[in-house]
Amino acid sequence: MNNFAVAIDGPSGAGKSSLARRCAQELGFLYVDTGAIYRTVGLAALRRGIDRKDEAQVAAILPELDIALRYEDGEQRMFLNGEDVSREIRLPEISLCASDVSAHAAVRDYLMETQRRLAREHRVIMDGRDIGTVVLPDAPLKIYLTASAEARAERRMKELAAKGVEQSFEEVLREIVQRDEQDMNRLVAPLRRAEDAVLVDTTEIDFEESFRLLCRIIRERMEAQA
Ligand code: C5P
Repeated sequence: MNNFAVAIDGPSGAGKSSLARRCAQELGFLYVDTGAIYRTVGLAALRRGIDRKDEAQVAAILPELDIALRYEDGEQRMFLNGEDVSREIRLPEISLCASDVSAHAAVRDYLMETQRRLAREHRVIMDGRDIGTVVLPDAPLKIYLTASAEARAERRMKELAAKGVEQSFEEVLREIVQRDEQDMNRLVAPLRRAEDAVLVDTTEIDFEESFRLLCRIIRERMEAQA
């Protein structure tokens, strides 16, 4: 039998990663951050200095990339040709690089099997943009996690500040709106809510409340399936 999988999708900065990580810890799931995988491809493209909007150029570097996920103390770490790039992929400039390369079918196809294999081999909470719609369309629980662009920008700004990265609210908001636009309007696997996804809007609720709400939704669905 397949493992129970939770697919969480939604726009950037909705709190998917921190909430999914915390729920996975609480409920004994493996947390898979698929954005980190796209970020690693984005970083590789940036380093090679290629035109990231050109699918042929991006596709040409894929065979030279060895992208690996490793779990250390429950934390997902990303390796690019053996180098630990877990910190570097979090730099703000990598966000748009990831969004650029992720629009190409060649990249999405290349990463598909890695994501599906993780869900076959483990009980996962996997977050991204197309997990419920494309990667795990049969997931027993899909959640679409969102919040207003302003609330997301506010949170992202605090997160960056905590890591010592100073960016103004306007800058962060602009980047979020641009990424939403790209991710929702691309031709391949655009970000959208799966018809059977539970909608969770965290604009008005804080992290702890969102965490409790998600855990409750997951537990209830698991009990219903048992
Ligand atoms: O989730 P995160 O912000 O780290 O993702 C970075 C970018 O990677 C997103 O803006 C999106 O373009 C892309 N992505 C994707 N599909 C996923 C996860 C991320 O296209 N499943």
